[in-house]
Amino acid sequence: MSSLDDLPETVPALTCTRCDEPIERGYVTATRAGETYQVTAETAVCDTCGWADVGATGCAPTLSDFQTGDLLVRVERGDGVLVPASITDEQS
Ligand SMILES: [Zn+2]
Repeated sequence: MSSLDDLPETVPALTCTRCDEPIERGYVTATRAGETYQVTAETAVCDTCGWADVGATGCAPTLSDFQTGDLLVRVERGDGVLVPASITDEQS
């Protein structure tokens, strides 16, 4: 099991790969890199697109929807920066 402690404290600004809007709340995959994980900006989606386009209709996206990465991380904007809020899916 991975925990938020394995992720960076903040995430660089992300743009939704579906609608090109800056992400306030959304999802991004992360890949293990040594002792930590690095988020893959190319997979970032906002909440709206994540639920409507990526996840099965009306459901939160899962890692398998992205076909890449070791973790699916929920990110939320706090204090002007994006922070990992939770790990919502993990490769088993
Ligand atoms: Zn979007």
